[in-house]
Amino acid sequence: MHRAYGLHPLSAVVPNEWLSSLNQYLTADPSAAIGEIGLDFRRGSPETSGQIERCRQQLELALTLDRPVILHAVKAHHVLYPLLKEMGIHRFMVHAFNGSADVAERYLDLGGWLSLGGMATWHPVPKGLSVFAQMPLDRVLLETDAPDLPIQGKDAGEPSDLPEVGHALAVLRGLSDQAVAQQTRRNAEAFFGVDFAL
Ligand SMILES: [Zn+2]
Repeated sequence: MHRAYGLHPLSAVVPNEWLSSLNQYLTADPSAAIGEIGLDFRRGSPETSGQIERCRQQLELALTLDRPVILHAVKAHHVLYPLLKEMGIHRFMVHAFNGSADVAERYLDLGGWLSLGGMATWHPVPKGLSVFAQMPLDRVLLETDAPDLPIQGKDAGEPSDLPEVGHALAVLRGLSDQAVAQQTRRNAEAFFGVDFAL
């Protein structure tokens, strides 16, 4: 199992010494990613400049420790993308991506992955997911975001819902479930820098 540690942008409480604690967690767990971190500019979210500063500090840690980054971005692509570019962050995924083809292309140009979650099973499928029908399959990751963003018909998501998300992607791409499972597994190995068979 590969864990991720990070301070979420919607964290209401920012503990003292959070950054050094995070550093300790990551140093003790060499296969862990940093996440989920990012920016969320919905109304009522924590103040913007503090979010950006904490995101930047964690991205610096990702560079120092050479860790993949799991990103949360809501109404914030216009700030997050330039930040990633400026800092030279390339091994990242934008989780539960739901945005325009232009935004998707920019993240992909940086070398990132886009992650598809339970929304892919919703009826109708949200418009922002149409990029997953076209984009390079080797840049797609699958997630459940459990218990958030559950699949169609459930009140709460579970990790075991992942095949349903994979099936939705298979339907979207006209592929078999097995082909999607194999490719997205390879993608996850590339993202985490591991071989899951070992
Ligand atoms: Zn999130």
